[in-house]
Amino acid sequence: MTTQQKVNLLGLSRPQMEEFFLEMGEKKFRAQQILKWIHHHQADSFEQMTDVGKALRQKLSEVAEIRGPEVAHESISRDGTRKWVFELIGGGSVETVFIPDGRRGTLCVSSQVGCAVDCSFCSTGKQGFQRDMTSAEIIGQVWQASRAFGPRRNLGEHPITNVVMMGMGEPMLNYDNVLTAMRIMKDDLGYGIGKKRITLSTSGHIPRMDQLSQDLDVSLAVSLHAPNDELRNELVPLNRKYPLKELMAACKRYSDNITHRHNTITMEYVMLRDVNDKPEHARQLVKLLNGIPVKVNLIPFNPFPHAGYERSRKSDILEFHKYLNDNGLMTTVRTTRGDDIDAACGQLVGQVQDRTRRSERWKQSIFHRSEQTDNNTAQAQ
Ligand code: SAH
Ligand code: SF4
Repeated sequence: MTTQQKVNLLGLSRPQMEEFFLEMGEKKFRAQQILKWIHHHQADSFEQMTDVGKALRQKLSEVAEIRGPEVAHESISRDGTRKWVFELIGGGSVETVFIPDGRRGTLCVSSQVGCAVDCSFCSTGKQGFQRDMTSAEIIGQVWQASRAFGPRRNLGEHPITNVVMMGMGEPMLNYDNVLTAMRIMKDDLGYGIGKKRITLSTSGHIPRMDQLSQDLDVSLAVSLHAPNDELRNELVPLNRKYPLKELMAACKRYSDNITHRHNTITMEYVMLRDVNDKPEHARQLVKLLNGIPVKVNLIPFNPFPHAGYERSRKSDILEFHKYLNDNGLMTTVRTTRGDDIDAACGQLVGQVQDRTRRSERWKQSIFHRSEQTDNNTAQAQ
């Protein structure tokens, strides 16, 4: 059997793993053993599995494999943020970011190579859509990041306490594989991450939001970015299919359906200078979100070459923040992390574009040396 035909056990949830062993004529409990070996002990070969008999290990190595994405590049920011560029098994590359914050460590995971939604302010969108990632490639980012921190002694010590599906891609457009990966994240035999600590972020795919509320208990973030349809159609093209009135109704349904007490939906709002950051936008937003249990997360826009947008002025962000808070909307401003390694929200583009970016910088440094210095100074302020 060739490698390509082997089943990659990394991407199987507990029920799928049980089915795999039953089909092999083996006992169901093997699934638990193997899951632990893969996700707790970070094993990448059957040889390491000392409590599995030699005959079964041999049989497994003939039909199955444990294969994660390869680390092509790793960078560590001044603020401790780590970014990996992963070369995928099925071709292409994606980026994954780890953001430490006190006792919390959040891993920002990608779900697609590129993205078809094409939001006007997002560099992943500008890259276009290449393909969906497999469940092994999605959970493989958690597995590899976890391996980068060294062997796990017990779950409590694990540096990855939270996962956000906020890397490259629209997770709702790769629903089945994202769901499988999130099941493994939640499973005690996987990563044992609680439902409040796993967040799926969507640009607003209504049917899948309804589906998710039936399938798995996790937290939801919605990329809102505009308080009216005219502006949102421009910024988030998916709005033309699923406009705001319907989206708000879907958010209400989602929070009503969620069984746990923590049913608040996070509304993400990127702050684009003179585009969506005026007092009138804040007023419209308060009206729009009335009656839905939300918290608002303002994200200062992270620039990338040829973006065509600028980050809002600090004073405008503060004013916007204050207006929302004063009018009953719990609001926070996201601090930009890892921007010295291009790891901030919306800057993730994979290796191909990274190269473009490097050549862009190189060109700038040759032709616009003084201009670049000015830009750097402006960004550091
Ligand atoms: N596709 C999903 C999840 C990935 S994007 C979604 O859109 O929700 C994660 C968050 O970063 C989204 O809210 C997205 O709109 C935001 N984002 C994208 N580009 C950005 C940029 N250049 N600056 C700041 N935030 C950005
Ligand atoms: Fe895709 Fe999200 Fe970027 Fe929009 S913001 S293009 S949905 S990754």
